[in-house]
Amino acid sequence: MTGEAAENVAGEVAARWFRENAPRFSGVLLFEEPLARHTYYRIGGPAAVLATPKSREDLSWLAEGIRATGARSFILGAGSNVLASDEGFAGVVIRTGRMNLTLEASGELLRIGASVPISTLLRRAAQEGWGGLEFLTGIPGTVGGAVFMNAGTHLGETARRLRAVEAIDLADGRELTRFEGEALRFEYRRNLFLPRSALVWQTEWSLEQGDPAQVKATIDTTLARRKATQPIDFPSCGSVFKNPRAHGLNAWQVIEKLGLRGHRIGDAQFSEKHANFIINLGAARASDVKGLIELAKSRARAELGIELEEEVVFLGAGTSF
Ligand SMILES: Cc1cc2nc3c(=O)[nH]c(=O)nc-3n(C[C@H](O)[C@H](O)[C@H](O)COP(=O)(O)OP(=O)(O)OC[C@H]3O[C@@H](n4cnc5c(N)ncnc54)[C@H](O)[C@@H]3O)c2cc1C
Repeated sequence: MTGEAAENVAGEVAARWFRENAPRFSGVLLFEEPLARHTYYRIGGPAAVLATPKSREDLSWLAEGIRATGARSFILGAGSNVLASDEGFAGVVIRTGRMNLTLEASGELLRIGASVPISTLLRRAAQEGWGGLEFLTGIPGTVGGAVFMNAGTHLGETARRLRAVEAIDLADGRELTRFEGEALRFEYRRNLFLPRSALVWQTEWSLEQGDPAQVKATIDTTLARRKATQPIDFPSCGSVFKNPRAHGLNAWQVIEKLGLRGHRIGDAQFSEKHANFIINLGAARASDVKGLIELAKSRARAELGIELEEEVVFLGAGTSF
């Protein structure tokens, strides 16, 4: 049996277990669900199982099913930084958007569930005058995704404001592990502390009590600036490549130097407006986006001696914890 055929059989075995045990799950279970419906790119073939848990118990149940079937699994936030394969995923995709929507402030500490959308958090920040989170402006996605990615903008990054993370290890599904202080290790656009099978459940952030009007003004100005410089009318994952900081360049400048701004494969295109965005003009496939990524990487290496590294995360055969 080929690797792909073996993966598909494993996906079918997993789907059977999840169907048979579905009455013990309070969330939403979908089978052979197109990932294109759950990613910002609007790209991606079917997931054998797509589960949207609504509670801690649901997560324990998912962990049990993954252990029992040996299925591959992938944690999906809002899908704003994920490129899903055209072939889909022969395993269990766990969508985190409904499981923990806590949002509680006490003094200068904010406890936020991993499912909370960044846009909701910022709306509350503007209402309440919670200062210090403005750097998240314009980043789509969930709080859990921002922690995993160490998301940020020119105004700062997640690592600077995050105080603690509680994660559930899906290899076990029961215990919460708390990370704080020096355990919270990050680099540019990646965390270094979460085990591969860890799902971010709850987070704590430090706030500065500010003036609601001032917080709102910073958010509005930043949003306007992003609107003017980013192709937000088309599906994308934001920046495709990390900035190659060792070379003192931004990734868009590398794409520009290679003459790839506006270059197109199928319906995927390096945006004319922001060259580090690959946009979906309508019917792009993951293979088109990947084609552009590989083209830029190989030419940057050969012509400029620059090793471009993807910021976008791939979901497909071979990705799992
Ligand atoms: C128009 C646009 C603009 C963007 N601008 C920015 C920007 O300015 N700065 C920036 O940093 N990013 C930006 N992004 C990228 C993206 O929004 C961020 O990376 C975001 O933090 C991803 O969150 P998400 O919930 O969508 O995660 P997903 O994209 O679903 O997942 C991203 C990664 O996080 C993991 N993950 C998600 N949730 C959890 C969880 N609860 N526990 C464990 N792992 C988890 C996934 O497994 C995956 O590896 C942009 C994207 C778009 C579409």
